[in-house]
Amino acid sequence: MRVAIIGAGAAGCFCAVVLKRLRPEVDVTIFERARRPMVKLALTGGGRCNLTNTFDHVTDLAQAYPRGARLMQRLFRQFGPEETFRWWEEQGVRLVVQDDDCVFPASQDAREIVGTLLTAMRQADVHLRTNAKVTNVENGNASCLVRTETTCETFDRVLVATGGSPRPSGLAFLPDTAIVAPVPSLFAMNAGDESLHALTGTVVERCQIAVAGTKFRAEGTLLLTHFGFSGPAMLRLSSYAARHLAGLDYRATLLVNWMQGANEEEVRRTLTTFRQSTKLTANHHPLHLTSRHWLYLLTRAHVAPTQRWDALNAKEANRLLSVLTADTYPTAGRCAYKGEFVTCGGVSLREVDSATLALKHHPRIHLAGEALDIDGITGGFNLQAAWTTGYVVAHAIARDA
Ligand SMILES: Cc1cc2nc3c(=O)[nH]c(=O)nc-3n(C[C@H](O)[C@H](O)[C@H](O)COP(=O)(O)OP(=O)(O)OC[C@H]3O[C@@H](n4cnc5c(N)ncnc54)[C@H](O)[C@@H]3O)c2cc1C
Repeated sequence: MRVAIIGAGAAGCFCAVVLKRLRPEVDVTIFERARRPMVKLALTGGGRCNLTNTFDHVTDLAQAYPRGARLMQRLFRQFGPEETFRWWEEQGVRLVVQDDDCVFPASQDAREIVGTLLTAMRQADVHLRTNAKVTNVENGNASCLVRTETTCETFDRVLVATGGSPRPSGLAFLPDTAIVAPVPSLFAMNAGDESLHALTGTVVERCQIAVAGTKFRAEGTLLLTHFGFSGPAMLRLSSYAARHLAGLDYRATLLVNWMQGANEEEVRRTLTTFRQSTKLTANHHPLHLTSRHWLYLLTRAHVAPTQRWDALNAKEANRLLSVLTADTYPTAGRCAYKGEFVTCGGVSLREVDSATLALKHHPRIHLAGEALDIDGITGGFNLQAAWTTGYVVAHAIARDA
């Protein structure tokens, strides 16, 4: 059997290794358009590669996978995070789990992950063709034709593992297949309000950030940058609301609760206690906020920092309550700085057989990784999807080989 894998990224290379170990006699060729394989994998996690997550605090997979949770749930029965952890340790890669459940190689070096896959590919005799962009895949009765700009070859099976593509044309070579329009996910937002720039570098833990007028909300650390909002909470919100925000051309209103998840009533009680104090508002404030941040919030609520807490009137207290729990920021677009991390969209999951990840109408063509309409929030979930889908395809092909 001859198998073509299109894309030498995480999903494609992992599938190649798993398949060759199951069926060494299968001839596997990877076509990669770039000069080198796994270029993106080497950059993941800021060069450290957050290769999976323990999922210990994921109670519902839809929290981790805004698109594709149901399919991932099913595929995890074959190869989930525990199996992934074991697989990498069996290759000799020691892993460490951070306090936030993210899993990294102990070397803190993504090149160890890339190197491990490259060595395994070499040992298993996987053929790797770089500078080989696939331009077309044609599905015949008994085989598939795979065309690059200079070659045309026949294969029994094809895995499309071309990753996320900002344009639907990235998957145009697939024969009559429904593509869910791609939009970016995991991005920072530009705040229209320039006064926020004074807080550049401020990190606020356990914030809640929401898109006004919707159910989209996320909790976690918020990072204030020179352009607006970033950090895990913002990235998570951008993932949950990826399509909604794209529809608004990224001009939305964000609501921030700065008070560590406390609701309006709880914050009202805190402010009532503060209002019994004779201290100045500038000097007595919730401890998790820095003085600089607190002064900024007082200004937004039109409360003078020189005012004593016990002199605050009801109107001022209400304005402060509203700034602390639902601070409102119109956005001035998506931040393109560093580009988006992940694509929301891709081959519609309705098109694929959930057991084999093959196209229902072209069962010789399989899909894996970000080319599918599956994407996760930050924390190792996207690479987990690449390993899981790559593994499932390898086993599906091996069964038929
Ligand atoms: C900067 C950055 C950091 C990230 N960090 C993390 C992280 O720490 N943890 C995490 O879980 N996720 C992370 N991600 C997301 C994660 O990297 C991707 O979800 C994952 O790499 C997807 O794997 P893939 O194999 O589907 O696609 P890719 O890794 O993108 O590989 C696809 C490959 O296909 C090739 N290709 C495309 N079209 C063709 C064609 N027509 N012919 C031939 N070759 C083609 C591409 O050149 C590419 O090499 C990060 C993403 C970025 C951009």
